[in-house]
Amino acid sequence: MNHATTADRLKRAQQLVAANGLDAILVTPGPDLRYLTGYDAVPLERLTCLVVPATGAASVVVPLLEQAAATASPIGAAGLQVHPWGESEDPYALVAALLPGAQAVGLDDHMWAAKVLGLRTAMPGVEQLLAGPVTSRLRMRKTPDEVQALREAGAAIDEVHARMAEWLKPGRTEAEVGRDISAAILVAGHATVDFVIVASGPNGASPHHEVSDRVIERGDPVVVDIGGTMPSGYCSDSTRTYAVGEPVPDFLALYEVLRAAQEAACRWARPGVTAASVDLAAREVIEASGYGEAFIHRTGHGIGLETHEEPYIVAGNELVLEAGMAFSVEPGIYLPGRFGSRIEDIVVCTEDGVERLNLQPRSLLILEA
Ligand code: ZN
Ligand code: ZN
Ligand code: ZN
Repeated sequence: MNHATTADRLKRAQQLVAANGLDAILVTPGPDLRYLTGYDAVPLERLTCLVVPATGAASVVVPLLEQAAATASPIGAAGLQVHPWGESEDPYALVAALLPGAQAVGLDDHMWAAKVLGLRTAMPGVEQLLAGPVTSRLRMRKTPDEVQALREAGAAIDEVHARMAEWLKPGRTEAEVGRDISAAILVAGHATVDFVIVASGPNGASPHHEVSDRVIERGDPVVVDIGGTMPSGYCSDSTRTYAVGEPVPDFLALYEVLRAAQEAACRWARPGVTAASVDLAAREVIEASGYGEAFIHRTGHGIGLETHEEPYIVAGNELVLEAGMAFSVEPGIYLPGRFGSRIEDIVVCTEDGVERLNLQPRSLLILEA
């Protein structure tokens, strides 16, 4: 991220700060800080806080011992003023002094409670709201560079799915398979492994099952949902359901319903339709087949510097999709005690539809067992 990007994002943030009736947003280390400034600071007990006022220059309050790191980040190149504080100073008072006369500030949605209360004490008369309406609004619409970063993340996780036959075999435990997958996620170019779900047989009915010592049996459907973070900071997240040997006919029928639902939602999604309508596009197919009660979660979530971010593809979210918005389409059908299935692709809205960023086959892959 270069300093022109930082300057542009801060300028657009300031416009939204004003439009939301806030005097400033206060952003602590995390994805919002990284998005706005390129400064990838670790959240620590000492206060680091970007102050983005509605008018005037943005600046950043940093612990003295972090000053060099902050200045070396794109914050320095963008020319942001850095206010260091020494170990015996009160950093909250320093933030308050930057915002004389402020009446309402938006706090980073990820800010630690200790910092929220520290700011409240330092600025007792200032209303604390969330910065989300500003930061999520910006982060939801990806620029071409961000879409490219997500495309690379998608290709990397696809490489891992493409190797599943090497690992998914009867007689192995989910945990053993999970270890192989974790290693492969890094080999494929991710900087970190964020999650590995290997949910075999009845475990597939629990959407956020991770791995267990259950031994995979011949005929098991296995839900594999995996993701990591690339060196760019952008995340991958893709699910495929496999069968280790021929599954029971009931499962094959369920899987075809799911595949049609995932396809319907991907075909429906485009700029101009609501997030809720994409959820409905998948849900209608599943409900019409009698599995409605078994689809127990929303259809998807936005993705970018975080695996789960706005826009959420869920009933009630009347947000109208726009070009550049990236999110998962991941309907699932879960039958407790028996098995489950989920298919998940990340898609990004183009001008008139979506581009899928995960391209592994969606037909049921029956592995030899
Ligand atoms: Zn999930
Ligand atoms: Zn997933
Ligand atoms: Zn997901």
